[in-house]
Amino acid sequence: MDYQPLLEQIAADVAPLVGGGTPAEYIPALASVDPGQFGMAVADLDGNVYGVGDWRVPFSAQSITKVFALALALAEGGDSLWERVGREPSGNPFNSLVQLEYENGIPRNPFINAGALVVTDRLQTLTGDASSELLKFLQEESGNPELGFDAEVAASEHEHGDRNAALAHFMASYGNIDNPVPALLDHYFWQCSIEMSCADLARAARFLARHGLRTDGSRLLTRSEAKQVNAVMLTCGTYDAAGEFAYRVGLPGKSGVGGGIVAVVPGVCTLAVWSPGLDPHGNSVAGVAALDRFTTLTGLSVF
Ligand code: GLN
Repeated sequence: MDYQPLLEQIAADVAPLVGGGTPAEYIPALASVDPGQFGMAVADLDGNVYGVGDWRVPFSAQSITKVFALALALAEGGDSLWERVGREPSGNPFNSLVQLEYENGIPRNPFINAGALVVTDRLQTLTGDASSELLKFLQEESGNPELGFDAEVAASEHEHGDRNAALAHFMASYGNIDNPVPALLDHYFWQCSIEMSCADLARAARFLARHGLRTDGSRLLTRSEAKQVNAVMLTCGTYDAAGEFAYRVGLPGKSGVGGGIVAVVPGVCTLAVWSPGLDPHGNSVAGVAALDRFTTLTGLSVF
């Protein structure tokens, strides 16, 4: 399919929404990003990448990294991860603490912050350097060796990291964190700070559309594991708006408070979209609308 004219149309359709919503305010380094930016990229499985707008501009990947960390933790350590983290939508904000106590320190899913901290903890135990392993993987899959951490964002998250620290300490009190909490938080904040463009993200996520196969043809996940990660993205990837996202977009998707969203059409292509203005759930306003337009115009959806 020639995605280029389609992307141009989508960009025109969502232009009135760009700048709407608010950039993440609780991480000061993100609050200062120009909200008027919009980019979108599509990567097909033949290696072509199409893009529109600010699709080559790097932004803070934030929680989108949670899907890659989950894939690596499953690839390296297998299914036992699921003894420590669930697979149900939480129906609560991504940084909520409330379920953790009555669910005995087991987070609902790997895409809320509590669950992602467990995944990063697991990856740290498995690899000895979770954030560097993740960055290396993203560089390889995106084909962009320049990808890196944003030290300013990582420091900003650290300074305003009381809530994530509370989540990690609380889970540690239930024995669900193996590494020292300060070291775990460091890896988590570095992980969230990774800067990627829509082009990088669409390329890096292709293993999820290729049923687990990496760019070089080697296998990262079994076909079944790739299906499982996509399923968890669909049900939990956009937090307490996952139902609305499935209703509007109908694809597995993972958002981040940097304003990015990555989405997967299994067997066909991957999509990445970015616009910093967020809705109250922490999902990009123009980003969700653009993905909605994509599936509406093409009929490409898992449903
Ligand atoms: N770094 C952010 C946090 O931990 C990630 C949240 C997000 O992107 N939803 O709060």
